[in-house]
Amino acid sequence: HLKDKTALVTGSTSGIGLGIAKALASAGANVVLNGFGDATEIEKLRAEIAAEHGVAVRYYGADMTKEDEIAKMIGDIEKEFGAIDILVNNAGVQFVAPIDEFPVDKWNLIIALNLSAAFHAIRLALPAMRKKGWGRIINTASAHALVASPFKVAYVAAKHGIAGITKTVALEVAQEGITVNAICPGYVWTPLVEKQIPDTAKARGITEEQVKKDVLLAAQPTKEFVTVEEVAGLALFLTTDSAKNITGALQSIDGGWTAE
Ligand code: NAD
Repeated sequence: HLKDKTALVTGSTSGIGLGIAKALASAGANVVLNGFGDATEIEKLRAEIAAEHGVAVRYYGADMTKEDEIAKMIGDIEKEFGAIDILVNNAGVQFVAPIDEFPVDKWNLIIALNLSAAFHAIRLALPAMRKKGWGRIINTASAHALVASPFKVAYVAAKHGIAGITKTVALEVAQEGITVNAICPGYVWTPLVEKQIPDTAKARGITEEQVKKDVLLAAQPTKEFVTVEEVAGLALFLTTDSAKNITGALQSIDGGWTAE
């Protein structure tokens, strides 16, 4: 259902973003990948998605913490494809430490990447999207857009902020064929989660195995990690016509975490 549409998925060289990019390509969208990583591996991913789905796949390495790089990327995509029809604000990092030890540079990075990048991408992509009278903006938020956990002050603040951006912009474009939603996953097994295990163990004074069982999966009544494919399936659904009245919503996919 996405033939002739173009999607930009930020932070899509890995994890959830990559899963969403593949799902959108499978429905016929041209896809722009973004994110960091090994150039050869990224080129391999790009070529594989293009070959498997017969769509155009581009890669832009814009650093999403840099306003000028975001603007340049969006300008270049619009030059080639006319407009970004589907914008997925997904790039994000985590850092775990108590607030009085929280490094100020990590706070600044997480606010820039997990929060401000979405503001910039939306404000820059919206004019061209609006001209077409159709658009989908999907923000990868988190269960941490709805509830908090200790030692994640920057991440929780940024994700609560994403919830605010989602609702505000949804209201501004409500009559223009554009929906704006946030997906709020619980723990999904990706490099982002894997990398926070040692620091969480340190902050809580427990072993890494205990972090997995007693901290991460303890939050999820299902006792299972959510999968990348499940999150991608939800994102894909939000691009369909059936979802055209879902807007300004914070869609949980968290194994029951925020029901408790
Ligand atoms: P990941 O580490 O697998 O992917 C993060 C992506 O962001 C990578 O492609 C990386 O290269 C990119 N990135 C990092 N810094 C960047 C920058 N400055 N500019 C551009 N791209 C950059 O992590 P993930 O788990 O797939 O996370 C994706 C999103 O999902 C994040 O916003 C995260 O907060 C959110 N999320 C993850 C989970 C989880 O449990 N994994 C749960 C809820 C929400």
